[in-house]
Amino acid sequence: MSQLTARPPSALTIAGSDSGGGAGIQADLKTFAAHGVHGLSAIAALTAQHTRGVTAVHAPPVAFLRAQIDACFDDFDVRAVKIGMLATAEIVEAVADALVLHPDVPVVLDPVMIATSGAKLLDDNALGALRTHLIPRAHVLTPNLPEAELLLGRRIGAGADAEGALAALRALGARSVLLKGGHLDEGDQVVDRYTDASTVFAHRAPRLDIDGHGTGCTLSSAIAARLALGDDAATACRAGIDYVHRVMRDAYRPGRSMVSVLGHL
Ligand code: PLP
Repeated sequence: MSQLTARPPSALTIAGSDSGGGAGIQADLKTFAAHGVHGLSAIAALTAQHTRGVTAVHAPPVAFLRAQIDACFDDFDVRAVKIGMLATAEIVEAVADALVLHPDVPVVLDPVMIATSGAKLLDDNALGALRTHLIPRAHVLTPNLPEAELLLGRRIGAGADAEGALAALRALGARSVLLKGGHLDEGDQVVDRYTDASTVFAHRAPRLDIDGHGTGCTLSSAIAARLALGDDAATACRAGIDYVHRVMRDAYRPGRSMVSVLGHL
């Protein structure tokens, strides 16, 4: 097929921009491209950011965010949506409203709240909106440990406690949950835990000693890319975890601090 007649599936990221190119929309588009998926973006927030931290955040008017999302759905065959940083309750509600028109498109929800550098990426009062309006719409919810603790309102420990938390997270209404294990102390392993209505698994991998930035964004967009290519959620999550592991091994250091992961297959 020539380049002009080829129709790769499209995936849409609704997320924040990272001016440093390590996380957010920039990581998502690199990841989509690495999977052969056409990347669309609706920018929900802008950050002034480098590898050492976030220096400013700007949220666009919600009507403009809505215009971006609608423009993508008006022309492209959107096969999956990834949601990342949403910044405010108003933005969460605008995204939920826009997606009501597209009930069949799978959504990967990365409940971005705090950056690795410590910067706050979601207002405190937006947590309720996320629970009410977006979590029930998610096919795959991908919290890290601090995000899962905020969603459940309790601390989570390793082993059986994390397994209990996984079930409790799914009870919030998402069709499936991938609880990322990077922040848990489980020896020299990282254990990512997945559950949906019929499948439960724990994925174990040796811990890589990398002060990485953008790994969560890369994982959720890799899962969205795999869903856009036709995988079911459990398969997409396993493939996404393997992808992040590979790109972390090949990570590079473009600025003075945290490394970025490189989008490639
Ligand atoms: N900046 C933006 C725009 C993001 O969406 C995210 C995470 O999703 C981050 C920063 C934080 O990434 P990390 O925690 O990997 O530093």
